[in-house]
Amino acid sequence: MKQYKYFKRGVKVPHYKNTENVETTVMPIPDLVEIPMLHHIGAPCEPLVKPGDEVLVGQKIGDSDKYISAPVHTGVSGKVKKINSILFPNGVTVKSVLIETDKKQVVDQSIKPPVINSKKEFIAAVRESGLVGLGGAGFPTHVKLNPPEGIKIEYLLINGAECEPYITSDYRESIENSWNVISGINIIMEYLEIDKVIIGIEDNKPKAVEVLTGIAKTSDKIDIMPLKSKYPQGAEKMLIYSLTGKVVPAGKLPLDVGVIVMNVTSVAFIASYIKTGMPLTKKRITIDGGAIKHPSNIEVFVGTNIKEAIKFAGGFKEEPKKILMGGPMMGVSQYNLESPILKQNNAILAFNEKQSKMPEQTACIKCGRCISACPMNLMPVYFDIFNESKDADQLLKLDILSCIECGSCSFVCPANRYLVQSIRNGKLLVRAKGSK
Ligand code: SF4
Ligand code: SF4
Repeated sequence: MKQYKYFKRGVKVPHYKNTENVETTVMPIPDLVEIPMLHHIGAPCEPLVKPGDEVLVGQKIGDSDKYISAPVHTGVSGKVKKINSILFPNGVTVKSVLIETDKKQVVDQSIKPPVINSKKEFIAAVRESGLVGLGGAGFPTHVKLNPPEGIKIEYLLINGAECEPYITSDYRESIENSWNVISGINIIMEYLEIDKVIIGIEDNKPKAVEVLTGIAKTSDKIDIMPLKSKYPQGAEKMLIYSLTGKVVPAGKLPLDVGVIVMNVTSVAFIASYIKTGMPLTKKRITIDGGAIKHPSNIEVFVGTNIKEAIKFAGGFKEEPKKILMGGPMMGVSQYNLESPILKQNNAILAFNEKQSKMPEQTACIKCGRCISACPMNLMPVYFDIFNESKDADQLLKLDILSCIECGSCSFVCPANRYLVQSIRNGKLLVRAKGSK
């Protein structure tokens, strides 16, 4: 087993992996699903169906002719009730397809395993599957797997770090669907002609390390590396450094250093799609937080709303004061329990009053802890200062756009400065000035 390098800085966060031993349960088909036309970074899709249309399981209901995009499918059969629009928490409005389910689950006859004889056909199949990065980023996978001509990929890295507190959906994937994880890796290695694969898993998940090591031992090309549990170990640049020692320069992509990083659930999905031809329409999510009665892992159809998913998991034990899609460090607050679950969502956290209370900000004491914690070697305290003075030039000079919004700086700040919020505002100032 190789030795990891252990990226510098970052923070120790409590794990709260309350659901690590909770097997995934499958949620029954809801009466309604609302499937947005945007689950990914890139161009939104346009609906391919209209109100009154009957839809079948696996049917494509949205697509785009833009390269950075991914088609959208339905996992339920039923009738299209309405083409709606949804306001995402980031302020973007997106079209959605509201489907009344018939609970018959009639499968679209076009669903069959794709015929693949070349890399080109493999990439086309991945696009048709609707796969986007399932670790949360939502980058269309067919784009990631298709580097520009002349770029040689040395490593395929599999991200099973899952460093955010509470979330265990990838961990359950590694255990419950381990053969598909390894099978998906083998498929990608074959079509992309990659010889070296490393699966990175934090050392607080020994069972996942054990199970995947047992299966991968048949291959001399796949290494499993337990990584020290440290946040944000699962961030792309940190993972690349920890597993290979390579540094991705500011403004560059993993491809530029010969690396592709994929989430563990994404590679398992590729194996399943190649076998069945069923596109991405379901997702495992962790439901947890102080307001949740029974912390669980559940499998839902994409488009199921938060309220129904929480109800299936046993409901609330006390009034929730904050609902997050994702983990407590990088998750996005939801303003509405009717919001649908997207392909790339991996957790819903419902926090009670005590957990949701925002500590009061006090004046910065210039302790420098935010700088020591920043895994990107940035100076968050100055982002805060120059955001307040609205100095976009200084913010750009200090490389604010390299911030990955991991929240490590806010986490350690003894003055409770709202640093991530300042950074987000600061980035808007820089972009508004047209600097990037
Ligand atoms: S400045 Fe950005 S990258 Fe650095 S710790 Fe803060 S949020 Fe993370
Ligand atoms: S950690 Fe907080 S108090 Fe310390 S320098 Fe950074 S912003 Fe100021």
